[in-house]
Amino acid sequence: MKPARIALAALLLTTAFAWRSIAIEPVPQRLVVLTFDDSVASHATFVAPLLKKHGFGATFFITEGFEFLVDKEHYMTWDQIKALDIDGFEIGNHTRKHAGVSKQRPEQLAADVEFIEQQCATYGIPRPVSFCYPGYQTSEAAVKLLRERGYQFARAGGAQAFDPTKDDLLTMPQVFDGKPDSTLEQFKAAVAQAKDGKVAVMTFHGVPDIKHPWVNTDPAKFEAYMQHLNESGCKVIAMRDLAKYLPVRK
Ligand SMILES: [Zn+2]
Repeated sequence: MKPARIALAALLLTTAFAWRSIAIEPVPQRLVVLTFDDSVASHATFVAPLLKKHGFGATFFITEGFEFLVDKEHYMTWDQIKALDIDGFEIGNHTRKHAGVSKQRPEQLAADVEFIEQQCATYGIPRPVSFCYPGYQTSEAAVKLLRERGYQFARAGGAQAFDPTKDDLLTMPQVFDGKPDSTLEQFKAAVAQAKDGKVAVMTFHGVPDIKHPWVNTDPAKFEAYMQHLNESGCKVIAMRDLAKYLPVRK
């Protein structure tokens, strides 16, 4: 081959690989993100084994708030959290004390966010890239802090499907929030919104949640929810796995 042709071939190859590296997969139909808040013991003992059976991904948002430090019957140990990571689940940051970010001074919030990052480092868990706002309250200062610390995703509250083309990744809405009186029909309606480029981000607390009964999900009902995801052919992932479906933002 002549040098010019070699150069051209090299250029084409480089271009092809560059294009591949920024290629975006379209958001598939029925894309569901499962998230579990508040470090509840049943996440390790009931939820994770069931999700593994179905081959589902999920994000567990960890806080040392509530009675995490003293009640190891109802809250996970860090060894259990590490085991979730080893099993391929995502560990996300839900702050040290579970304080509302809008009421915190910037240095308090920074310390609470950093604390969970340090605990993850101590237990060999990757530095979190996903965050969940305690009590679903957001603030501009918190969004700025998360961006500066390299977070890619943050979930708030709400009741709508996540639209990657319109919604801010750092104030991502949920479409479903598991409560004691939530029904399978409501869950199915939420799943049905995962279409046309939109993603259904689901929030749960404990399954069951003995210490916070107002956010409890009954295990039998949760099994029915997961069965529906399975039967309807949903792709069920952790929040961090959304990255490949998102527009590249430089
Ligand atoms: Zn919480």
